[in-house]
Amino acid sequence: MQSLSNRKKVLEQKPMNIWERMYLPAIAKGLAITLRHFFKKIPTVKYPEQIRPYSKNFRGQHSLKRDEQGRERCTACGLCALSCPAEAITMTAAERQKGEENLYREEKYAAVYEINMLRCIFCGLCEEACPKEAIYLDGPHVTASYLRKDFIYGKDKLVEPKFDITQLQQKSIT
Ligand code: SF4
Ligand code: SF4
Repeated sequence: MQSLSNRKKVLEQKPMNIWERMYLPAIAKGLAITLRHFFKKIPTVKYPEQIRPYSKNFRGQHSLKRDEQGRERCTACGLCALSCPAEAITMTAAERQKGEENLYREEKYAAVYEINMLRCIFCGLCEEACPKEAIYLDGPHVTASYLRKDFIYGKDKLVEPKFDITQLQQKSIT
């Protein structure tokens, strides 16, 4: 029957010659390819013993930053949560009380701040949206776990540890 595209080709099956019927040249060719790959440099990295250097643009776990006086920068404005395409961020805002000026930089702060790492796609939009430079994706990989609840990261995992301000001041002097 005539094909619609008219590109049909009739193939002829040629009979195999003596070498092809012996299969030996084909086997030798296959072995040569195997040997060539055997002595090639292996590109596989034996993780976790070996760790490849990350790209400068690597986005890892989020960290909630402190200012130069060690106070939490986040003011619970919610812009990061609004900009998040995966709806991974939730928070509860609270008013700063008298005497807490050394803990929180702004009058409002995040009493609860959670990121669902199973939802997060590490796009970095929360980092870009933050007007207070309070959130950066500059941490390591999110660690594996068998339980879903372990992937809800709260402030205990997100807020960067307190640093010694006197050491920082000494560094800036020297
Ligand atoms: S990195 Fe992207 S997906 Fe993850 S919390 Fe931020 S905005 Fe959402
Ligand atoms: S991390 Fe930044 S954008 Fe998100 S609530 Fe805090 S201040 Fe607002």
